[in-house]
Amino acid sequence: MTAPNAAPATKTDTAGPPIADHQAQQLIAGQIRLLYQNTHLAQVVTLMNGALLAVIQSTALGYHAVIPWFTLLSMVSLSRIALAVAYERSTPEAKLSPAWRTRYCIAAALAGAIWGASSFMLFTPDSFVHQIFLAFVLSGMIAGAIGIMAAWYPAFALFSVLTALPTVLRFAMVGEGMHVAMAWLIFLFMATMLVVAHRVNRAIVESLQLRFENQKLINELERRVSERTRELSRANEELDKFASAASHDLQEPLRTVANFAELLNTRYADRLDSDGREFIGFVVSGAHRMRKLIDDLLAYARVDAKTPPAVDIDCNIIVSELRNDLKAAIEESGAVIDCEPLHPVHGNPGQIKQVFSNLLANAIKFRRDEPPHIRIRSVREGDRCIISVQDNGIGIPEKYRSRIFDMYERLHSSTRYPGTGMGLALCKKITGVHHGTIWVDSAEGHGSTFHFSLPAARG
Ligand code: ADP
Repeated sequence: MTAPNAAPATKTDTAGPPIADHQAQQLIAGQIRLLYQNTHLAQVVTLMNGALLAVIQSTALGYHAVIPWFTLLSMVSLSRIALAVAYERSTPEAKLSPAWRTRYCIAAALAGAIWGASSFMLFTPDSFVHQIFLAFVLSGMIAGAIGIMAAWYPAFALFSVLTALPTVLRFAMVGEGMHVAMAWLIFLFMATMLVVAHRVNRAIVESLQLRFENQKLINELERRVSERTRELSRANEELDKFASAASHDLQEPLRTVANFAELLNTRYADRLDSDGREFIGFVVSGAHRMRKLIDDLLAYARVDAKTPPAVDIDCNIIVSELRNDLKAAIEESGAVIDCEPLHPVHGNPGQIKQVFSNLLANAIKFRRDEPPHIRIRSVREGDRCIISVQDNGIGIPEKYRSRIFDMYERLHSSTRYPGTGMGLALCKKITGVHHGTIWVDSAEGHGSTFHFSLPAARG
């Protein structure tokens, strides 16, 4: 632990500026700020106490005796206020300078000397009550100074010693038993206050150091987070570029394979045996499946946060368009779609439609024997809308519920339920770039409800 007021030992980082020097400077700046921030209030209290002391002592000494002392006190107090104003007006760099601390110490020492001088200038040889009052006010000034000056221990030590020692001396000089006892009492009080102020100073220094340490940790954490975020988004961009380039390049040879396989099938099917026709069928369906995979991958790669434009969207229109787009599947399955009036959202219309489309297609595809019954509804929560698509299909076992949003994750064979495993991954990416999320509730064998959140419409 660093000793009170001591700056941490200077340690030079070979790759950069001396780190400990900077910390020590910050610590000193914190201490100086604490010293000056209470000056105005402290000087008002000082002047009030000084005036009270002068008035009371004047009843025994007369006004002519107290005016010089009070004038001196007022001059020092006003200079200290002027010093605090100059500190506040100085530039932030200048505020770091330990010179302000030295100036404060000199002013504190001067103030201590004047309070100490009061024990001679305002001492009432004939009135013990006034002497007690003098000792009481001086002790109060010392105790009060702890809260104001303890941030820099030498300032307090100078003030309290210069205030107390002349008082101790003055009482001791009287030489009688009671006065000597008073001298000892004031001396012990001063010693105790010095110890207390030392402790308060340590607590202040430690709390300032802790604050700097915390700030340093927060800065380091923020730096790492932003570095990691930059790395991640760079990696994502590269992955997207690769996926998009690879899908483009793959499309052309694939089209050739599919076209020639189909040509082979139409022109030469009668010359092939059943095995040959079956094999060509495999090539054609494989090529179609691969094209679907590539299209989905391309669609996935194209979704990014920069995709314009984001506009207010009427989701009811999207659903009615999809009723038309999915007409064949709806009629073939006997699906019923109940759609409550939906809240408008804000985003990319093509992408939002893609999310609705994938969820509706899945709700129809992953049905049980009975016709699908799909319910679509939305709720508004602050500046977000949560849209839910509920079906009465086969449901999703609990352990797979988070995995299904990953690329190529499928729970069934493509002969039973055709698909590429890209639909929900695409929904997740689209909601993500809209700063939303997607999740699922499901009762296995009874149905699933997919929820996704999007920004609410702004208009
Ligand atoms: P695909 O539909 O092409 O298989 P998705 O990414 O859309 O791929 O879905 C991933 C998997 O999640 C599906 O293969 C299916 O097992 C499961 N799934 C998606 N939607 C539903 C649903 N409504 N009901 C039951 N299972 C579903």
